[in-house]
Amino acid sequence: MSKRDYYEVLGVSKSATQDEIKKAYRKQAIKYHPDKNPGDNEAEAKFKESAEAYEILSNQEKRSRYDRYGHAGVGGASGGGGGFGGGMSMEDIFENFGDIFGSTFGGGGFGGFSGFGGSRQGRQRINKGSNLRVKVTLTLADIAHGVNKKIKVNKYITCDTCGGNGAKDSSSYSNCATCHGTGQVTRVSNTFLGAMQTTQTCHVCGGDGKTITNKCTTCHGEGIVKDSEVISLDIPAGVAEGMQLSVSGKGNAARRGGINGDLIVLIQEEKHPDLVRDGNDLIYGLYLNFAEATLGAPVEIPTVDGKVKIKIEPGTQPGKILRLRGKGLPEVNGYGKGDLLVNINVWVPRNLSKEERKTVEQLGSLENFKPQPTADDKSFFERMKNFFE
Ligand SMILES: [Zn+2]
Ligand SMILES: [Zn+2]
Repeated sequence: MSKRDYYEVLGVSKSATQDEIKKAYRKQAIKYHPDKNPGDNEAEAKFKESAEAYEILSNQEKRSRYDRYGHAGVGGASGGGGGFGGGMSMEDIFENFGDIFGSTFGGGGFGGFSGFGGSRQGRQRINKGSNLRVKVTLTLADIAHGVNKKIKVNKYITCDTCGGNGAKDSSSYSNCATCHGTGQVTRVSNTFLGAMQTTQTCHVCGGDGKTITNKCTTCHGEGIVKDSEVISLDIPAGVAEGMQLSVSGKGNAARRGGINGDLIVLIQEEKHPDLVRDGNDLIYGLYLNFAEATLGAPVEIPTVDGKVKIKIEPGTQPGKILRLRGKGLPEVNGYGKGDLLVNINVWVPRNLSKEERKTVEQLGSLENFKPQPTADDKSFFERMKNFFE
């Protein structure tokens, strides 16, 4: 992203006095202060951006260099060249400019900041872009290992021409007629306690104190344009159908330089041809023929990573459940893995030919073919009950 004009960042004119610059920066710093915007990367970026602008414009020498040569004159374009060009850390900002808040918020600079919330005045409405919703369909293999998906979303992005403020240039502003440039409107209402004065953010200018007289022609003053973006999503292993992941700041850009909305990703699961998911466990219904169940056999079991071979013991009864440990899906928090449960069925043939019928009749007359369930076999119903609970 190309750097925005420092005067635009602070919303002041090129002829602004030092006092105006200081005031403007203070307003920005309060608006985007991390205490007010916890976990908001966009706000943090704006906080840093305005600190950088203030660092240059509050210094006569740097300011005149900037006026003559732009960002290149103050080493800001490349990010190198010393100074704060590469972006200031939060610590730098607090250390260098913390005193700018001191007078209002008490000693300790930023330490006293939490008191701000109770204050009635000075709060600005911050535009927030709307959230975007997308659906992502994943296979069980995607879910087993986590996956990176690149998706193209149509969305509003910040207008490149004006940098998102909607104005043609920094002289395209006039003071808001409603609040006379203060950003606030004061109302007096009569109550039984007497006249009460309340101060509110001006609804016309949103607290900026200014209105745009000459709009950016690209975005018609909105500060945003319709576009598309390819977004790279790192989806963690273990997610499930219906889960929503939120990607902060990847939603629609806000009108006139506010905070981006979020991208909400709805997870959908593609049905696996053989495996059924139950939490982090997977279930596979294995059919043995009568001979395999009786004599034992090697069989192949599908897993999310291809087939594995297991051995069926002779005399395996239908309803037996084999547990392949760790062949299920991982927990989404990264601890532990589910199992693959192999539910054994014995296939009973249908539509026999004459000869087949004869063979089966012979088998059926054998002494060992009479059912002889042990206590363990009978516990099958107990297990099934537990299984479905
Ligand atoms: Zn624009
Ligand atoms: Zn206003």
